[in-house]
Amino acid sequence: MGAARSGRGRARRAGRGFPPHGVLRDAREQPVGRVPEKRVTRLAACSCGQLTVACAGEPVRVSICHCLDCQKRTGSIFAAQARFPRAAVTITGPSATWSRTGDEGTTASFHFCPTCGSTVCWVPDAAPDIIYVAVGAFADPAFPPPSVSVYDDRRHSWAFNAGDLPMEHWG
Ligand SMILES: [Zn+2]
Ligand SMILES: [Zn+2]
Repeated sequence: MGAARSGRGRARRAGRGFPPHGVLRDAREQPVGRVPEKRVTRLAACSCGQLTVACAGEPVRVSICHCLDCQKRTGSIFAAQARFPRAAVTITGPSATWSRTGDEGTTASFHFCPTCGSTVCWVPDAAPDIIYVAVGAFADPAFPPPSVSVYDDRRHSWAFNAGDLPMEHWG
């Protein structure tokens, strides 16, 4: 038993079983918002800016995950991540790593800034040729939207209709 298994004995999830932190390759995967000529490079960064991740080209897939571990990792009610080929991504700056095994049984190494603690990217142990980058780390409201939602059975009831809630709006 190597890496830190969270293994709190949660029941394995039945159903479609998209492994959000693991490896999923299917024929439907196409780069989102493909740019035909100019290859865009986007920069993701931690809160303090020391750890940066430059991503060349469009993400292969953008997804959101409602699993409880992602809720804890982000402090938000769901996580959003963009998948890139590892070769398209350049990581710069200091990072610490933490290994987490998800309910689906796959382990990923999460890279976070040792100063501010933001997780910027993670790599599935079983597929070191791909990398996930936290969409929020791009700080770009125009980033391509997700096309996949996983662990919907753990979704907060208001997650998909927050705009309909009675609340004040500022900014
Ligand atoms: Zn930082
Ligand atoms: Zn998750």
